Amino acid sequence: MTDLRPGSEIADGVHWLKDSYVNMYLVEHDQDLILIDTGINKKAKKVFKYIREELESRKISNILLTHHHLDHTRGLHTLHEEFHSRIFVSKEDSDVVTGARKPPLPNNIFMKPLFYVVKGIIRVKPVKQIEIASDNEKIVDFSVHHLPGHTLGSLGFLKSNALFSGDAAVTTKKGVVQLGPKIMAESMSQSFASLKKLAELKFDILLPGHGTPILSDASDRVIDATLNFDKH
Ligand SMILES: [Zn+2]
Repeated sequence: MTDLRPGSEIADGVHWLKDSYVNMYLVEHDQDLILIDTGINKKAKKVFKYIREELESRKISNILLTHHHLDHTRGLHTLHEEFHSRIFVSKEDSDVVTGARKPPLPNNIFMKPLFYVVKGIIRVKPVKQIEIASDNEKIVDFSVHHLPGHTLGSLGFLKSNALFSGDAAVTTKKGVVQLGPKIMAESMSQSFASLKKLAELKFDILLPGHGTPILSDASDRVIDATLNFDKH
C-alpha cells in the first residue's frame, strides 16, 4: 500500500521529500541513491535526516537538477561536499549553477524589487563540478528530456514509468497538472510547447517540482492540462 505523504517511499524505490514548498526525490539505485533536486535549505537538512533514518546512510552517487532555480538547487553545495556526487544539469542552466551567470529576475515588474531583497538574503553557493545533461541522453537509468520554458534549460527525467518533471509540470493538491508559475517563467510559450511534448510521453507516475505526486495514469493528466490550455 502506498502512503502518499512527503517523507516516505511513495513508489518502488522512490522517496518523496518536501522542503517547505518544494519537492525532492531520492531514488534507490543499487546500493546508492540518486537525488532529483536539492531543495531550498542550504544545509539540505531533510535529505540528510531522511537518509540517516530511513535509508541506512546510503550515499548519493548522482544528483540530477531539473533547473537552476534556487529553491531546487540551494542544498547542492552542502550535499556535494558530503557525497562528492556527480551533478547533472542542462547546458542552458549550468552557468547559473556554477555562478558564471546571475539568475534572471522574475518577469513581473512588481516582483523585481522583492526579488532583489530575497537574493540579498538567500545566497546560493555555486558548484563548479557539474556535468551537462542533454536531450535524449541516458543518465544512469533515467532518460533526459529537454523541456524549456520555465527556465531555458529545464529538464525532465524519465525512469521506466515515472517522470520527474521539475517545474515544467507541477500539480495541485487534487492532482491537476499545471505549468510552473508564470512570474518565474523565462518563456510561457515555450513552457506550453514543452507541456505538449510531455503529453506525448507515456508514464503512470508524475513527480513534480511542486505539488502532490500523481501515482497512476499521470500522462493522461498531462494531456488534460494541454487540452485545458487549448480551450483558452
Ligand atoms: Zn522553478
